[in-house]
Amino acid sequence: MSDGNGAASRGGGAAGLRAATGAALDTVHRGFRGAVAGVLRLLFPSAAGCPLCGRDDPDLGPGLPCRACRAFVVAAWEPEAFGGRPVPRCPVCGRALDRPGVHGVRAEGATSAWGVAGTSFPICSDCRDARPPFVAARGAAPYEGPIRAAIRRLKYSGESYLAPVLADFMAPVLAKEGWLVADALVPVPLHPRKAVRRGYNQAELLARELGRRYALPVLPAALTRTRETPPQARQGRHERLVSMTGAFAAAPAACAGKTLVLIDDVFTTGSTAASAAQALLTAGAKRVFVLTAAAGN
Ligand SMILES: [Zn+2]
Ligand SMILES: [Zn+2]
Repeated sequence: MSDGNGAASRGGGAAGLRAATGAALDTVHRGFRGAVAGVLRLLFPSAAGCPLCGRDDPDLGPGLPCRACRAFVVAAWEPEAFGGRPVPRCPVCGRALDRPGVHGVRAEGATSAWGVAGTSFPICSDCRDARPPFVAARGAAPYEGPIRAAIRRLKYSGESYLAPVLADFMAPVLAKEGWLVADALVPVPLHPRKAVRRGYNQAELLARELGRRYALPVLPAALTRTRETPPQARQGRHERLVSMTGAFAAAPAACAGKTLVLIDDVFTTGSTAASAAQALLTAGAKRVFVLTAAAGN
């Protein structure tokens, strides 16, 4: 997902140099804080509390999220586990069918999430109006509360130890959806300038964690970002779809004939995932699934 951190220092002369130095020092500082936090967690995992919220939980295993954070994810994603009513979701984008401004619609004769033609099932009106190129997208947790905070710390504070914590939520989804049939995992790339600034690509960290657990190849070079995209926060759905079109290019040698799972940190409108998936398909991929650590409703 593109983020709001696009204020690169482009000024010339002394002011530009000052800004560039400031940005570099800021990166080093953030990276240092994140590294220190990571080392402390490695040395004293239970003393550091829940990696997501910091709360102490006597039952906590080392480095594991507390019961409250786990319950938060389950309550939002599977309310039936707590006796609540299940949330009907769009089988394509995975978002709630009854979210504001969107209605579940029956797609007559559409192709099912598994590529079975002729089945009829309800999909959301966004997906009906502009069917995404990926087969299906799933977020492992809601992009809210401690999960949202953890993703922001992973992206902006250098706290890379949060990648395995978030991957813990993603791994069961990969298995449950039947996507272990995939040939490889492809992380959504950052623009190279942003990757240098951040020191790592959070999507690649997540993909590597999942790849290790399921012995699936990770192909970070399969997809490249062809241009820096504007921050999406203030754009509407249509503007986002337009601004992301053609933002990625994929390598045919890595994609041809393959079933791929695109991995990213967050899925909101799905414009980033749609654009990246389209690039993979154009490069010859057979089909693309999308798995993110979190998703908006
Ligand atoms: Zn917690
Ligand atoms: Zn949908």
